[in-house]
Amino acid sequence: LSPQYVRAIAPYQPGRPIAEVARELGLAEHDIVKLASNENPLGPSPRALVAIENALANIALYPDGSGYDLKAALTRRFGVPAEQIVLGNGSNDILELVARAFLAPGTSAVFSRHAFAIYALATQAAGAEGIETAAHDFGHDLDAMLDALRADTRVVFIANPNNPTGTWLSNADLLAFLQRVPENVIVVLDEAYGEYLPQDKQSDALVWLQRFPNLVVSRTFSKAYGLAGLRVGYALTSRMVADMMNRVRQPFNVNSLALVAAAAALDDNDFIARSYALNQLGMRQMIQGLLLMGLDYIPSFGNFLAIRIGNATAMYRRLLEKGVIVRPIGNYAMPEYLRVSIGLAAENTQFLQALESALKEQA
Ligand code: PMP
Repeated sequence: LSPQYVRAIAPYQPGRPIAEVARELGLAEHDIVKLASNENPLGPSPRALVAIENALANIALYPDGSGYDLKAALTRRFGVPAEQIVLGNGSNDILELVARAFLAPGTSAVFSRHAFAIYALATQAAGAEGIETAAHDFGHDLDAMLDALRADTRVVFIANPNNPTGTWLSNADLLAFLQRVPENVIVVLDEAYGEYLPQDKQSDALVWLQRFPNLVVSRTFSKAYGLAGLRVGYALTSRMVADMMNRVRQPFNVNSLALVAAAAALDDNDFIARSYALNQLGMRQMIQGLLLMGLDYIPSFGNFLAIRIGNATAMYRRLLEKGVIVRPIGNYAMPEYLRVSIGLAAENTQFLQALESALKEQA
């Protein structure tokens, strides 16, 4: 009964939950390591927990559908007025709101090969055509993306850094790209992993909002802020685009606990600094371990690494049997790669040891 474009959708495959894998293996949950969903191994910002406790008494009430307090906090932080902010049930919701507001059958969206899977899914769900461009060293080829724009193209999706490859585009390259994209094409700059970039590579995107009303900067509290389970993300954009996105948004798309937690976590610079530092250390630990095993990987600017492993599905299963959950990324046209999130030092060690013993078994 569904339209053909809905039936054609290959569902998103999330990382396996710890409880399910523990049950399957007959292990305790604390024996399982999950490095499959790019979550923050430090847990949530402690300020978020306090805010949630204080807000629990109010869960009989609907949340503030306008997200007044969180938007005010975002305005204080980024200098972007509330009319130019859209809140989402995770940044996933932001990506879907863009698709719903600007795509329809007869239009198209452009995204890169190996780019975050939701771009293709949201495009398809809107009945629009997805145009996938060739990658450059596993990252976005911005020239190829410009060349791919058609008269019916309404949206371009770019992840910076990208998941699952960890590739990164410079501010200079992105600015040059924006200058060449026609005004009637929405450019979504997905910065889900932006907080993991070093100081000298931080995004200039907010400065560009003034000049490019077609720019949508998408961010999330799921990664560095450690609030993935609450589902809250946001878009910073022009008044016009925010207005369109809000028209197709569910009235209460962000729940009340998520709203207060995000507002409390936003200015927890100390927590973000700790998350960044831990990720840097863990990334070095992982890379060192991989090099010792003679394994190839894609240099990453995120909190995860794509590792070239041969038959990644087989290795994924072998690691799973050892209680280590990672992600094969065959659905990203990378059947030889496993994606592993950077965890705590002990989790990284457990992963590296499991990988080493799995490689020995294989040999
Ligand atoms: N963008 C990218 C590039 C991602 O990797 C993810 C999470 N996997 C998201 C957006 C969506 O995350 P969330 O909905 O939790 O904000």
